[in-house]
Amino acid sequence: MSEMLRTEALSKHFGGLAAVSDVDLVVNRGEIHCLIGPNGAGKSTLFKLIVGMHVPSTGRIEFEGHDVTGERPYQRVKRGMSMKMQAPSVFRELPVRQNVHIALQHHVPRALLGEEEDRLLELLELTADQGKAAGELSHGQQQWLEIGMALALKPTLMLMDEPTAGMTPDETFRTGELIQGFNAGGMTVVVVEHDMAFIRQIAKQVTVLHYGKVFARGPIGEIIRDPRVAEIYLGKTHD
Ligand code: ADP
Ligand code: MG
Repeated sequence: MSEMLRTEALSKHFGGLAAVSDVDLVVNRGEIHCLIGPNGAGKSTLFKLIVGMHVPSTGRIEFEGHDVTGERPYQRVKRGMSMKMQAPSVFRELPVRQNVHIALQHHVPRALLGEEEDRLLELLELTADQGKAAGELSHGQQQWLEIGMALALKPTLMLMDEPTAGMTPDETFRTGELIQGFNAGGMTVVVVEHDMAFIRQIAKQVTVLHYGKVFARGPIGEIIRDPRVAEIYLGKTHD
């Protein structure tokens, strides 16, 4: 497996708090890599460092062999990253299809736009709701729409912070299938999550954060059997 993303001794301090501390993370091409850990462990902060929304206090980030540490988010997007943030930011007053259109318009030739919109709506199971205002969709559907808008960029690396937040168990499961589908199509995926059933469903590799540091890492099968991980993390979920 070849390496796609690497962080080296990456840290982010907020005043005296080390939200992310000395993190070495490697994501290989083709992985579904989950970042897990208790609330406040530094997952979202690490995510924001990777996508360029935070400037690191120390350390570096390499993506596809380039040092991207000093790059802006849009520059990382150009290199193939796409990100789904924690809170959906769809255009609520606009129809679902219009949202998809806006996301796709700069990435697809005009002649193919309609076709590509149909394909994406179908994939997101939103074909029947395409005329509704996005704000009228269920919370889960809004998350899917947002995922679809991130997909429109045709990323090689998709980064998602809690994609199943606010979803029903059924919606969560379908989101897992959707993510596995992108992955089967060749996309590398990094997911920040705390829903253990979901992590079991999709994860190949897992990195566990605790107090901003890497606490454990390995294939999902090893992580769920690690009693140290259970103690800090699994024991605190409703799994
Ligand atoms: P997680 O996503 O694992 O729940 P976060 O990365 O959101 O954790 O937060 C890690 C720690 O950093 C927490 O103690 C949080 O309060 C703190 N933190 C996160 N963002 C900021 C910020 N912008 N300013 C100050 N402290 C922050
Ligand atoms: Mg978070």
